[in-house]
Amino acid sequence: MSFNIAIDGPAGAGKSTVARRAAAMLGFTYVDTGAMYRTIGLYLMRNHVDPADSAALADALSKIRIGMSYADGVQHMSLNGEDVSSEIRTQEVGEMASKSAAVPAVRDKLLSLQQELAASQDVLMDGRDIGTRILPHAQLKIYLTAGVEVRAKRRFLELQKKGETADIAQIEEEIRSRDYRDMHRDIAPLAQAEDAVYLDTSNLTIEEASAVIVTLAKLRMGRTDS
Ligand code: C5P
Repeated sequence: MSFNIAIDGPAGAGKSTVARRAAAMLGFTYVDTGAMYRTIGLYLMRNHVDPADSAALADALSKIRIGMSYADGVQHMSLNGEDVSSEIRTQEVGEMASKSAAVPAVRDKLLSLQQELAASQDVLMDGRDIGTRILPHAQLKIYLTAGVEVRAKRRFLELQKKGETADIAQIEEEIRSRDYRDMHRDIAPLAQAEDAVYLDTSNLTIEEASAVIVTLAKLRMGRTDS
């Protein structure tokens, strides 16, 4: 049987960086489900589809083929055959992903894809509803979070490093509104699963947070090697 780790948490908590690192340390496949929502978001953005228009959305979903592949442990996303791994990383695509992720038809399209990936191999999957809905029987669940100010500062520094100008107050506002939308939508809202371990990374480095996850996973797997 495959061993599944579910990591959920809000935007900007360092989830994907920590998850990728922990997965590599464990030799697990890392599945970034946000990237799947972003790929759909990118298609909708490019084709000016309003996710609130259900007929237009259904038509768009029928035309979207999502592909995933791994090169050197890095997850690549393709949209109808085109590699969109970098295009999906913008703030605008994130917004569109978040808006469309509140629509059941979008979630349904991704549900089986995510469950199939986890059934066939050891995965560490991150998202918003992995522990609560997609992998309710995951052997280890983590709810990874950090204070809003800390998350805004991290995002600000990330943008600064890329040479982009950013307004920290605006970033904080965007994070707050994305959190609100993700936590209050009717379908699959972001929530901590009852049996998830709560991990606040506000005062932890990436290395420390990943080490916590690796240690917990090894304990659950009954592995005592370091
Ligand atoms: O994690 P990331 O910022 O890439 O996710 C983009 C958006 O996709 C999130 O704001 C969230 O609305 C949505 N999402 C989701 N369920 C997941 C992963 C992401 O609803 N499992």
